[in-house]
Amino acid sequence: MKVFTVRASSLPKFADRELSWAARHFDPVKEACLAAITTNGGKPARGIGAIVGSANHFGALEMLKDTHLTGRPNFDIGLHNAIAHFKGEMVDLKTVHIDDLTKSVDAGVKQITKMMEAFYNTYAIHSDPSKYLEHEVFVKINQFLRVGGKLDNLRNNWKLQDYKFGRDLSAYFAQLGAYLAGIAESFENAKNLTAELIWTPRVGVDALQPVARIIPMNAEACLEAFWNVIFKIRDRIQKWNSDRNPKYLIFGRNGDSKYCKKQYCLAWGTDICDQWIDLDKFKEGPKEWATW
Ligand code: SF4
Repeated sequence: MKVFTVRASSLPKFADRELSWAARHFDPVKEACLAAITTNGGKPARGIGAIVGSANHFGALEMLKDTHLTGRPNFDIGLHNAIAHFKGEMVDLKTVHIDDLTKSVDAGVKQITKMMEAFYNTYAIHSDPSKYLEHEVFVKINQFLRVGGKLDNLRNNWKLQDYKFGRDLSAYFAQLGAYLAGIAESFENAKNLTAELIWTPRVGVDALQPVARIIPMNAEACLEAFWNVIFKIRDRIQKWNSDRNPKYLIFGRNGDSKYCKKQYCLAWGTDICDQWIDLDKFKEGPKEWATW
């Protein structure tokens, strides 16, 4: 049997919506969803907030890439790469779900510029040169399952830093825990590991851009969350391989999640899941008593 690699960045989704995670990352469920979506009409659109976030993330790593050689981050390279990445993702606007903060490509470019400025001026310029940037780590779970991921930055004093760019912030315990476990597996001398999130908020185009925030995380709690989630994934996959029926409902659903929407979940609108509802449809009902 092939080794299945779970990406560390996908773990927070599993903790919130197991079946939605499987629809995106576990091939048998993903294929069933894609087939169902074809017959239902249309893949879900990608949220523009996620596109702005990943463009900033890409730019931030480019900005820091040569700090071990030059001693300073390069703002121009970071910004150029972030905007190029964003524009490349915005070619087919039909596949993008626009939100109230970022209503156009121009607005996205302005936001990325503000966010990169905040990241550079309030975090990057004050940081030591990076020791391990975008460093790939793995954690072996058993002979068929492992976790892999590229951590953003591992500092000299074994401090893990993970960069987030977005309107809201989650804690990402399980994702950081996966990196911490991966560091412990990769580096024999790793000790006293700590972790931080560096969050640069996305706000409206005309709003004042907040500074980048440094959020210390409890490393032990991150590790505990990681092992908790990955053991659940291991158990679900074992069950999937041994049971015949019912397949999809091995994975938990969470129709209450704020991400239980067409733009976030491949299973939404299909009969793979029994916990989605098209609430927008009800907003279009009659407005006056008289019309009932
Ligand atoms: S439609 Fe909602 S409940 Fe069902 S898998 Fe997707 S996110 Fe989970």
